[in-house]
Amino acid sequence: MPNIEVVIVGAGLAGLSTAFHLAERGATVTLLEKDRVGSGSSSRSGAVNTMLQGNRAATVARGVSFDIFERFDEILDDYTFHQVGCMAIYDEEQFETASQLHDMQREAGSRFDVLDSSQIETRFPDLRIEKNEVGVLDLRGGWSEPDSYIPALTKKIVDLGVEVREGVAVEDLMVEAGHVRGVRLAGGEELRPDATVCTVNAWANALLDRIGQPLPVRSFVHERFVTRPFDGPPQLPATNDDANGVYYRPTEDHRILLGSGAMDPEEVRMPGPDFHLDQLSPNPGSLPYILDKVVDRLPAVEGDRIDAHRVGLVSYPADFMPNIGPVEALPGLYLGTNFCSGGFGWHPVAGLLISEYILDERTRIDASIFSPDRFKDFDTQAFLEQDTTYHEIVEAHAARNRGFVRKRH
Ligand SMILES: Cc1cc2nc3c(=O)[nH]c(=O)nc-3n(C[C@H](O)[C@H](O)[C@H](O)COP(=O)(O)OP(=O)(O)OC[C@H]3O[C@@H](n4cnc5c(N)ncnc54)[C@H](O)[C@@H]3O)c2cc1C
Repeated sequence: MPNIEVVIVGAGLAGLSTAFHLAERGATVTLLEKDRVGSGSSSRSGAVNTMLQGNRAATVARGVSFDIFERFDEILDDYTFHQVGCMAIYDEEQFETASQLHDMQREAGSRFDVLDSSQIETRFPDLRIEKNEVGVLDLRGGWSEPDSYIPALTKKIVDLGVEVREGVAVEDLMVEAGHVRGVRLAGGEELRPDATVCTVNAWANALLDRIGQPLPVRSFVHERFVTRPFDGPPQLPATNDDANGVYYRPTEDHRILLGSGAMDPEEVRMPGPDFHLDQLSPNPGSLPYILDKVVDRLPAVEGDRIDAHRVGLVSYPADFMPNIGPVEALPGLYLGTNFCSGGFGWHPVAGLLISEYILDERTRIDASIFSPDRFKDFDTQAFLEQDTTYHEIVEAHAARNRGFVRKRH
């Protein structure tokens, strides 16, 4: 295979995974980051992951991510994939809706146990479950610790020969004769690779708007908290507690991490490429909301145990599917952006698929539902100008999906 040069813009999880999969197959890769590796939403992630998705293609794709997490657990120094299961907790009505997907999810390769309240409490003694609640434990699911995973993956790609440049902002994607020919950096330096990959997540439209290809995406503030350490490891899996609208998991240093997307989070219109997530304002209502939701569920968690807090952005395409793949209108450009609240679960497969688009011009799985070209005939401008809230977008999405909507990490 001829040597292929690739420039990747944005060193969060998506950029790192793309760099890994390209470099492992011999491509010459430069990864550009305007700040520090992982300083976007990636280092702020809850990193809870399940394979159980709302359609077959997404469930199969998540399975590929889990293949990669399992492999990374073997080949990355100082990284552990905590494959302890990822459990969804449902009330009766939610379970009835979710269970309509079980045949599809099994057929797509997932494995899970359905547990009643006493089975859950026996298996995970830190949880208190109502009699009418049901747990669906995804046996391939689990969690990672971004603070150890990001350095481990960065070290691996550097070992594979990737040039990682921090403090380097891309000012423009260079378009010549209808092709993306590379990037222009702040300061004027130009890089002209064979392929350009944009993995800037919530910053996508800060670059794409300037070349007339904005995406129909909206970004919202998302926060997560951790308790002070306990004496030993909390006895619970990674949990999407849909009955209460919160998620939680243990951490590597014996804390409990907690988050929620259920409050109406503030929308952030990306002001420009210079924006940094430290400029986000946390919502003072978030923590009281979460604590109220877990007071009966996780008796070990009390208000005065909360120790630390991180704030980032989750970025939603109009149809809640990430943007992964080439852009037909701009040959030479590939996207891996806007992963909703599930980018930790999507990024392994996203990087693999982008590497296959570039090196093979085809992918091992059907990835058409992620193609940025699905929005070719969509009224992106109207979507971006619409005055709406997070909950209205979620409700509209639920209506299109026969009532099934879950915040799926
Ligand atoms: C609080 C919180 C909790 C979450 N919990 C979960 C969870 O439990 N499970 C899950 O699966 N997902 C979760 N997510 C989502 C997940 O963390 C994100 O989807 C994922 O980290 C996105 O990774 P990324 O690489 O696409 O983006 P980012 O990590 O945001 O990286 C984009 C990078 O691009 C850089 N950049 C931007 N513009 C430029 C430019 N012009 N030039 C150079 N560099 C540029 C930025 O500095 C940034 O580092 C959570 C997110 C948040 C905020």
